Amino acid sequence: MIIDGKALAKEIHAITRQRVETLTKKGKNVGFAAILVGDNPASQVYVRNKLKMMKKIGISAQMARFPVSVTQKEVVDQIKKFNIDPSIDGILIQLPLPDHLNTQELIDIVEPNKDVDGLTAINAGKRGLGLRSLLPCTPKGCLKLIKTIKQDLSGLHAVIIGRSDLVGKPMGQLLLQENCTVSQTHSHTRNLEELCRQADILVVAVGQPLLVKRDWVKPSAIVIDVGINRLSDDHLVGDVDFAAVAEHVYAITPVPGGVGPMTIACLLENTVEAAESAYLNDNV
Ligand code: NAD
Repeated sequence: MIIDGKALAKEIHAITRQRVETLTKKGKNVGFAAILVGDNPASQVYVRNKLKMMKKIGISAQMARFPVSVTQKEVVDQIKKFNIDPSIDGILIQLPLPDHLNTQELIDIVEPNKDVDGLTAINAGKRGLGLRSLLPCTPKGCLKLIKTIKQDLSGLHAVIIGRSDLVGKPMGQLLLQENCTVSQTHSHTRNLEELCRQADILVVAVGQPLLVKRDWVKPSAIVIDVGINRLSDDHLVGDVDFAAVAEHVYAITPVPGGVGPMTIACLLENTVEAAESAYLNDNV
């Protein structure tokens, strides 16, 4: 089974659009702001796509763009402006940032209620405690994809390859919350292939083209490929050898058309969720 991320993202967009309309009718417009530093071509494309999708479903979206030479203080000042601007419900700092900037310090300036990427220490802490919080978009999207195949994940063995703060770590936490038995693997893990072969759910977030081979997965597995790797011929591939693995496993996401569209769908969903909370706060 190929898990169609594009189709699911489209369904989520339709619901998010309705939620935006409901708020607009109540007099609350939904607003989003992105911060982009430098001229990394991939980051520019990602931000452009996010802003385009926001506008398409009725969210007003803006971007603060800085040259690579920007100082930490200048970015901090911009985030603080967005924090106190009532017309902005969601703030996203496009990562990665240039090395001279302190990424986590900047993320933690973002007002947690507007942290639609779910990466502030406050939201990460809440997530760790299993409390309600804005969730990082990519793992949130992966969980939705898994749930199209199986609703009750209780007792399943989930193996995550990767432990980044952006994807791998929160993915492990979300699956633990779903009562999975979680193996969080990374570049120092021994016997990785053996662990993968035990996985009922395998989420791969490494950034290494075609790392996971057919004999790493069991036939009943659900495989979620987060990786996006551009090959020298400009072809996009994931971290899983899709051609070989797809015919062998129960369900798998393609690249492109799997996790990517879900990341954007969840960003929009988080933005409207933040706007609904802001509306409730202002009207109780
Ligand atoms: P990262 O570089 O921050 O983390 C990579 C992780 O992989 C690390 O935890 C590292 O320990 C682990 N790793 C590296 N080599 C390994 C190996 N040989 N065996 C096991 N583990 C290994 O990357 P990230 O931000 O988590 O992103 C991972 C991939 O997902 C990248 O390709 C990125 O482009 C992609 N990504 C896609 C989306 C999307 O929307 N589809 C979103 C975010 C990231």
